[in-house]
Amino acid sequence: MINADKKKEMKNLSEMLLETRGLTKRYGHHKAVDSVSMHIKKGAIYGFIGRNGAGKTTCLKMISGLSRPTSGEIEIFGYKGKDLQKVRSRVGCLIEAPGLYGNMTAYENLNIKCKLFGIKKAGYIEEILKTVGLEHVGRKKTKHFSLGMKQRLGIGLALVGEPDLLILDEPINGLDPQGIAEVRDTIQRLQKERNMTICISSHILEELSKMLPIMESFTMEVYCRSLQEKN
Ligand code: ATP
Repeated sequence: MINADKKKEMKNLSEMLLETRGLTKRYGHHKAVDSVSMHIKKGAIYGFIGRNGAGKTTCLKMISGLSRPTSGEIEIFGYKGKDLQKVRSRVGCLIEAPGLYGNMTAYENLNIKCKLFGIKKAGYIEEILKTVGLEHVGRKKTKHFSLGMKQRLGIGLALVGEPDLLILDEPINGLDPQGIAEVRDTIQRLQKERNMTICISSHILEELSKMLPIMESFTMEVYCRSLQEKN
């Protein structure tokens, strides 16, 4: 028997996965995000492109539940308002730098998050390490990781719990060309292999354009590109 909540969710998953309407955040008199309305479909990679200070991080924080909107509405998997709590665990996010325990290995960092989520499945962590290309790092402590490796582990941490929506804020910031290519490959693999919906912010238009061939106009100085809409 499928309950009403589940039915509603199934209908919405086949349509819009995330929608915002008039999403606004004010800090005092300053509007960090001014009435952003976006519509994100299942299974696509979306790029958030905007200059420094355009409001990308603030917008993604509100969607992830890390910051409360001043006004406007967020709807994820068909849930909004107080009901958003029901689906928060299905949104994985990497906002700004990943919070890693430097004296621990990649496996140990992932293990802590798995314990918090109550995940005990054999081979689960190994699978995530493989997905983000860190299966061969062994006992190396994360404080000795390159920036690109840290970012990929941050993506791995965001994958714990099998989120349907992955939010990555500036995942290529500060990386060298090789690090950027590694993160780009990881993101493309996730979309292809897991049909995951991914929202990526960046101010580096050229790099995002390599992942996202079509641009669709968005509100304010944030733009949206969708691979899905190209196909
Ligand atoms: P960047 O590419 O530099 O990360 P961004 O597009 O992510 O920029 P935000 O970090 O969202 O931009 O910031 C948008 C605006 O909101 C900026 O003017 C910033 O100074 C301001 N802002 C962000 N967080 C706060 C805060 N906690 N208090 C006051 N102002 C803030």
